[in-house]
Amino acid sequence: MRLQKFLARAGAASRRGSENLMTAGRVTVNGRVVTELGSKVDPLVDEVAVDGITVRLSDEAVTIALNKPSDVVTTMSDPQGRRCVAELVPTDRYPGLYPIGRLDRDTTGLLLFSTDGELGHGLLHPKSHVEKRYIARVEGVPAEKDLERLRRGIELDDGMTLPAHVKLLRTCGNPAKRADLEIRIHEGRKRQVRRMCEAIGHPVASLHRTDFGAVSLGDLPEGSWRRVEGEELAALY
Ligand code: URA
Repeated sequence: MRLQKFLARAGAASRRGSENLMTAGRVTVNGRVVTELGSKVDPLVDEVAVDGITVRLSDEAVTIALNKPSDVVTTMSDPQGRRCVAELVPTDRYPGLYPIGRLDRDTTGLLLFSTDGELGHGLLHPKSHVEKRYIARVEGVPAEKDLERLRRGIELDDGMTLPAHVKLLRTCGNPAKRADLEIRIHEGRKRQVRRMCEAIGHPVASLHRTDFGAVSLGDLPEGSWRRVEGEELAALY
């Protein structure tokens, strides 16, 4: 974000007034005076001060839940011009929002964003073991013994998975050609659910995340977002 915009948003002065503060040499970024009007700052990382007093956008961190559609990549910009999640979340209103973890391009459902960097680090730490719930539509109908392998933990190329909750919800078609599985895992390895299903010989046709820890998608329409607040938010910390 441009420094004068940051200052104005943070309430230091109007946009014009902020430019004057800068050219007067009263603004520092990470301790260095910045007078050049085009200078950029990262509101999550950089320490901005006016006359030596730190200026913040807002003390209140913002966390939101997005119902990610398919064919959207989990990045805030994409050099290849693919549709990315940044287009779906209110980065103008809440600068510094970043995605907590990622969903594959074709995975739909719940993706959290926050302006609070600490929250993301905590939730993504391998030891955090926060539960994620997915509905996986798989090719074929897995036998109970295969579901049991997923439940116990299954060997993937990056090691054994932790025990998972796995339930056959329904079969699709007559005769049944596919099945919907509820899969709840406490890890977040790359393409983990897809690789788990592949490992039992039932590749994923579509994948949807409904829950991340205490946060549920509920009836949030596809492509829409909402604030995560109150007890739901408190439970993430
Ligand atoms: N597991 C996957 O395989 N893909 C996702 O997008 C999320 C979890």
